[in-house]
Amino acid sequence: MSEAGSPEVLAYVALGANLGDARASVLAAVDALGKLPGTRLVRASSLYRTAPLEASGPDFINAVVALQTTLSAPELLTQLQQLENAQGRQRPYVNAPRTLDLDILLYGDAVINSPVLQVPHPRMLQRAFVLVPLAEIAPGQVSAAQLADVASQRMHRL
Ligand code: AMP
Repeated sequence: MSEAGSPEVLAYVALGANLGDARASVLAAVDALGKLPGTRLVRASSLYRTAPLEASGPDFINAVVALQTTLSAPELLTQLQQLENAQGRQRPYVNAPRTLDLDILLYGDAVINSPVLQVPHPRMLQRAFVLVPLAEIAPGQVSAAQLADVASQRMHRL
């Protein structure tokens, strides 16, 4: 329990960026995630350079963090979207691509299927750039078979 009495939940958040200084964007976001209200950073994975999946453009920088938080899952999503907007978006032109993507992978053992939020993240099992850093900081959350399924996706630990 937190001081305010809200239950603390261990949440896993994936970070990705592939525009501008992607590495700086991800590192700044890791720092900012640990400063969200009622939240502390428990673990951060290494940074990984990964080839775009279902996308074109430069390689991505990806990471996964574990957060202990008293925010509800919808509150956490709102905070992530504010960080994406505040930190991640360069504005060279209207609707320019975001430089930072933040996804909730897991929120405790919650299963959420609302129109705006699905947890566990529905596509996490198809993505090496999620599973490999998640396995680095939380080996119990990812099986060897799940890692084997995405082993063909090119990525490089920095
Ligand atoms: P994206 O443009 O890939 O960042 O997708 C953002 C959209 O995905 C938002 O409209 C969210 O409401 C939705 N969404 C659904 N589930 C999740 C999740 N687990 N984490 C982050 N965004 C999510």
